[in-house]
Amino acid sequence: MKLSHRITHLTPSGSDGWEVFYRARAMKAAGENVLELTIGEHDIRTHASILAAMNESAKGGHTGYASVPGTPELRKAVADRIQSRTGVATVPENILITPGGQAALFAAHNAVCDEGDTALYIDPYYATYPGTIRGVGAIPKAIPAFPENGFQPRADDIARHAQGATSLLINTPNNPTGAVYSKATLSAIADTCKTHDLWLISDEVYDTQLWDGTHISPRALPDMANRTLVIGSMSKSHAMTGSRVGWVCGPQDAIEHLVNLATHTTYGVPGYIQDAAHFALGQGTPLEDEIAAPFARRRQITEALLATQNIVKASPTQGAMYAMLDIRATGLSGLDFANDLLDAHGIATMPGESFGQAAAGHIRVAMTIADEDYAAALKTLLGFANDKAA
Ligand code: PMP
Repeated sequence: MKLSHRITHLTPSGSDGWEVFYRARAMKAAGENVLELTIGEHDIRTHASILAAMNESAKGGHTGYASVPGTPELRKAVADRIQSRTGVATVPENILITPGGQAALFAAHNAVCDEGDTALYIDPYYATYPGTIRGVGAIPKAIPAFPENGFQPRADDIARHAQGATSLLINTPNNPTGAVYSKATLSAIADTCKTHDLWLISDEVYDTQLWDGTHISPRALPDMANRTLVIGSMSKSHAMTGSRVGWVCGPQDAIEHLVNLATHTTYGVPGYIQDAAHFALGQGTPLEDEIAAPFARRRQITEALLATQNIVKASPTQGAMYAMLDIRATGLSGLDFANDLLDAHGIATMPGESFGQAAAGHIRVAMTIADEDYAAALKTLLGFANDKAA
């Protein structure tokens, strides 16, 4: 039977950018010793106190259909958190609770793009972005952000692509580059959105992982709250990746329609998961800081080790749980470097090319293993790069 063009063309045929990751997993399954510095998964599990709240809620009976927009308590907790972090007045009616940030990204594009509309995103990009856009029938169009500019998109590049587009998706702190967009970058983005009447979809799932600079939510910039949909998630901030709980924050009329979309797609998020998320948010910043702390330490390890040599250069490493390393001095592509490193030392990283053209000649290292192992792996990686460059 014929399947829809939409689903069969969600991802382009040929390479999906995950070959090194799949190969590493296969090597591991075959019993080989492989260190994975690939995906954005914490090396700790969800905090015991959050699990206790989840368990209590489920045992207390919150296992039936939950309120589709989100429980009133969780919507309010998310709205309060956003208001206190950004200063923008935010009420529960501005929030839809979703099964993770990924579903929120899909819902947000669904809400603003019609079939055939152009949806912009920044390259390097989180791997699912173009597929998510295709999934709602829109046409993804990448705007490059170059390493020479610290992977911050430039105003003229955005403006050049904005003509006739419907939306622009940005992500700060950024996966995969570690860039945190500056006030100047975000102001230019906001101006372009207003000039070209674009929706801004702002993926802020790494908003608690900030090592340098300030996280600015573009919804807080002048006249942006009415054209911005913010994507949030408990995955990274609270090590709740498997719980699948996130949100869209936007204008009330947009959220009303998004609730209707949720009724016809997800039918909400399990009540005991929402109660656990509500409990977790209630712990405030101390818990968020505790969960972010290992990445802050490993980011310092990264900076210290990189300073001992001059072949591999770091990109910004301002935020998020990754270091994007510039390995162009070795003469290898990111893909060849990642494959050779895996074969030679059993260390798996992601080729920059997996995240778009602008990250060619880079590799992304996820700082997601214990400090000592991380430091040892990075030392080996740098030695390997040095040999290749010789
Ligand atoms: N946005 C970015 C930039 C991400 O890196 C991720 C997960 N790696 C997501 C969204 C989705 O996360 P989740 O669905 O777990 O909230």
